[in-house]
Amino acid sequence: MKTANATTTNSQFPRTIDLLFINCHLATMVKGAYTIIKDAALGITGKKISWTGEQTNLPDNPEKLATQVIDCRNKWILPGFVDCHTHLVWAGSRSEEFEMRLNGARYEEIAQQGGGIASTVRATRAATKEDLFSQASKRMDTLLKQGITCVEIKSGYGLDLETELKMLSVIDQLNQAFPQQIEPTFLGAHALPKEFKDRSDAYVDLVTQTMLPRVKDQKIASAVDVFCEGIAFSKSQTRKIFKAATDMGFRVKLHAEQLSDMDGAALAAEFNALSCDHLEYLSSPGAQKMAEQDVAAVLLPGAFYFLKETKKPPIHLLRKLGIPMAISTDLNPGSSPIHSMTLILNMACLLFDLTCEEALAGATINGAKALGLEQTKGTLEVGKDADLVLWDINTPADLCYLIGTTPIEMVVISGKVQYTNP
Ligand SMILES: [Zn+2]
Repeated sequence: MKTANATTTNSQFPRTIDLLFINCHLATMVKGAYTIIKDAALGITGKKISWTGEQTNLPDNPEKLATQVIDCRNKWILPGFVDCHTHLVWAGSRSEEFEMRLNGARYEEIAQQGGGIASTVRATRAATKEDLFSQASKRMDTLLKQGITCVEIKSGYGLDLETELKMLSVIDQLNQAFPQQIEPTFLGAHALPKEFKDRSDAYVDLVTQTMLPRVKDQKIASAVDVFCEGIAFSKSQTRKIFKAATDMGFRVKLHAEQLSDMDGAALAAEFNALSCDHLEYLSSPGAQKMAEQDVAAVLLPGAFYFLKETKKPPIHLLRKLGIPMAISTDLNPGSSPIHSMTLILNMACLLFDLTCEEALAGATINGAKALGLEQTKGTLEVGKDADLVLWDINTPADLCYLIGTTPIEMVVISGKVQYTNP
């Protein structure tokens, strides 16, 4: 474990502190390493972190320094988790499909028979905004209690203009109603809707010519995603969508190389994508292009686990090339109904062979990087957003090691305590 030296602390004490944590240990995750400060304190002023350092460097009588002082009794503070890839808004249930799979059907077969994504699309089209909001709210609440302080949510279960806009509007409502920062992504090209069977180019035209301009006008998405795969959209169709999206000023990201090598990573790199996600079948040239363009790799061990995949993403290659590795729940009804980042940390370690430090960096600073938020989120540093979690653990590795428990004490978002474990 690396321990911080004086350069990661700031000795100058801020004029005012609203909330001061004392008697804690910090894993700041600066530069993707633990960067631990033992016997530390952390101050928050307004919505930002305003002081971090060893407690011995605090002025005398720390209880007089701040409006509120919290004695952490030797517990740990880490940055809040950034969940950079979710499909959190949906209607209906896929537990029947889960059962079908256990009875022998494969993911592609279920998709080809109109199950899979198509069944969620039917339910999501039929649902009212209020229904979608109410179901998604429960999931947002669970994520908060799991220490997830920032979450990306994709559309993509509408696959028509009206429902895609409905989903993005629900995501916007969630952003107003919940303390977590939400990054909305337009994923109109998630699957081919059945009314466009054998006319996928016509659907791509609908996405680029009708949906994208409306999404842009309404300012309800900050990025555009595509599912580039044999069962979804080809590389040339993905290129068309990326071209239209980037011409309109959107950043792009890609579901790439999940079930086969479509050379999507190289295409995403060409468009300076924020991230390539899944990447089980990533090739060496594709990884090289990602490294050249500083594209983050988002690893989704939950989907790998749930689909009982066997081909792992090339972690050695990503490591060798210095590509930032993020991890995420991929929360969705079909392939990763997982609401727990600590479970994902464990899976990233045991299924993909990440170290605990890499997994924790993946759920914090590299998750932020995958959303273009690395300047404001993902580490405990002065000037960054005060999004953090107080954990009742003995060492940060406990978060990767323990299964079936979430030893959380408190969640702070934008400087405000948003959840305390009763
Ligand atoms: Zn996804």
